[in-house]
Amino acid sequence: MPLNVPGILAPLQFLVNPRVIVPGLSVKDIRHLDFHALKRAGYRGAVFDKDNCLTLPGKDTLVPDIEEAWEECRQVFGEGNVLVVSNSAGTHIDAGGIQAESVRHHLKVPVLFHRSMKPAYSCVKQIRSYFASLHDPVKDDELIVIGDRLFTDIVMANRLREKSWTERIGVRPAITAPALNPQTASQSEMLPLLTSPPTRTTLGIWTTGVWVKEATFMRFCERKLLEGVRKWVVAPAKAREKAKSLTQTGCAGGETGQGDGE
Ligand SMILES: [Mg+2]
Repeated sequence: MPLNVPGILAPLQFLVNPRVIVPGLSVKDIRHLDFHALKRAGYRGAVFDKDNCLTLPGKDTLVPDIEEAWEECRQVFGEGNVLVVSNSAGTHIDAGGIQAESVRHHLKVPVLFHRSMKPAYSCVKQIRSYFASLHDPVKDDELIVIGDRLFTDIVMANRLREKSWTERIGVRPAITAPALNPQTASQSEMLPLLTSPPTRTTLGIWTTGVWVKEATFMRFCERKLLEGVRKWVVAPAKAREKAKSLTQTGCAGGETGQGDGE
C-alpha cells in the first residue's frame, strides 16, 4: 500500500479542530440515501470514494447490491456531476491511468486524476476545478462527498467547506445579522434571526458498512474518536448554542412584552 502523507498529516489538523472528522450524515451504504431529496435540498454534484464504498477494494466493478442506487444517483445528478475520487485509481500509483479508465468504463462516470492523495488540499483544489469547469458549474456548498473513511473522505468533505484558514483550525465565522434595535424591533422581526435554519454546506456522508473487512484497527480507532468528538465537542457546543438561543429569545420576548411566561 502506498504511503498516504496527507492522510498521515490529517490527525494534526484533528488535534486542533476535532470536528474535521465529523460527517454530516452516516449511512450503511448508498442504498440508504435519498438522492432525490438531496437534489431538492440544493445538492447538484457528488464525489464518491471507490474502494469499499462503490467497489470491493482493488476492484473496478460496482458491488452488485448497489447497482440500482448507483443508477438512480447518476440519473438524479447527471453523469458529469458525479465524480469518483479514489486513492488508487487516478493517482500516481495508477500507471498510465489504466485503472482509472477501467473504473470509468464500469461505473460510467469520470474519475479524477490527482497528484496528491485524499485528503490533501491540492486534491480538494482539483475537485473544485473539475466542478467549476462544468457547463453548469457546481459550487462547494452544492456538493456531497461520500466515502467509508473518516480521515480521508470526511476530512476532505470538511475541507471543501472551509472558506478561510480560521475555519481550518475550527474557528467558525460569526453569523452576521442585520442591525436591529431590540428596543424597537418587533418579536416577529427578531425571531427569524434567532431561529434561522443552518445554511447549506458541503455534505460529508460516511458509509459505515464495508464490503470487505480491511484496516479493521484503523476503522475501530476512527469510530471511537468520532464517538468522543460527538460526546465531548459537538454535544456541548449544541447545548451552549441552544441555551444562548433560548436566552436571546427570552430577551426578545421580554423587550416586546410577549414572553412565554417563564
Ligand atoms: Mg474507501
